[in-house]
Amino acid sequence: MNHPVISIVAPIYNEEQGIETFIDAVASTMRAQSLPWELVLVNDGSADRTLELVRQAKTTCPEIEWVDLSRNFGHQAAVTAAIAHSRGDAVVVMDADMQDPPSLIPKLVESWQAGNEVVFARRTDRAETGLRRAGFELFHKLFRYTIDFPIPPDVGVFCLLDRKAVEQLNRLPERNRFLPGLYSWIGFKRGFVDYVRDDRAAGTPKQTFKRLLKYAVDGVLSFSYKPIRLLGWIGLATALASFGLALFFLVKRLLGQEVAFTGFTTLVILISGLGGLILLAIALVGEYVARIYDEVKNRPTYIVKSTSLDERHE
Ligand code: UDP
Ligand code: MG
Repeated sequence: MNHPVISIVAPIYNEEQGIETFIDAVASTMRAQSLPWELVLVNDGSADRTLELVRQAKTTCPEIEWVDLSRNFGHQAAVTAAIAHSRGDAVVVMDADMQDPPSLIPKLVESWQAGNEVVFARRTDRAETGLRRAGFELFHKLFRYTIDFPIPPDVGVFCLLDRKAVEQLNRLPERNRFLPGLYSWIGFKRGFVDYVRDDRAAGTPKQTFKRLLKYAVDGVLSFSYKPIRLLGWIGLATALASFGLALFFLVKRLLGQEVAFTGFTTLVILISGLGGLILLAIALVGEYVARIYDEVKNRPTYIVKSTSLDERHE
């Protein structure tokens, strides 16, 4: 097979209901283009027939390559594995649930051919509704104010990366990855292609609320010291207030006024309020410490069990 110019890479986890639709959509989009391509699918420890369906599809579509991870490592780890196993000069990273429309690939490629090295697919709207949508919107609004590092709004994992950008991304060792931020962090010439994010074509979302929450916290903590600085400001404000209070009571006392028999309610509120605040502060510091521990342990981000890429080289 020719050296692929365009790699399309996607993580898959229990996607037996939608994977064939995705493969067909990518294949028909890419066949309409004249460039050699490959589709790298990373099976993130699926418990259903996902991998079997991918292997089956490979018999009629040789452009498919798969990488089977040893267990479920999570979305960001699987995407990281997918990017690392790509071989194309340009790599399109996307989800396999049709929320990132394969029909946008030609536009991303066009922008790459025009000289852009990191092409973000930017959402102008999303089809999701209800709590999920509200959650995503709230995160993106807050996120903008929280980070120290400029990350374009309304971008996610869906993008095109030039080989140069891929090589730099592969060098980043961090484990708690927030890829939309890392795409920006590596620099290079940026382009944007707008699109409307569809709803999932089949199956249910595989990212649980808990995972999305951790992902959001990862995003903030790995691109900002603001939360910890905020603690400093709250501490300073509390210290100043307590200084004022101390002065107030001292003067009262010196003037011979009684201070001991009133203010019980104030005391209870102050003690419990400050106690809560201190615990919250410790928890926030703990989030950073836990992440430092993750990094220091130096475990790999994912483990590959087997891949079609090996099989071909052997
Ligand atoms: N996914 C994965 N591992 C996981 C969860 C999800 O590889 O632990 C894949 C999933 O198959 C899909 C993509 O990541 O291709 C995005 O997942 P999902 O649609 O559930 O996430 P959301 O759209 O809610 O961000
Ligand atoms: Mg999705």
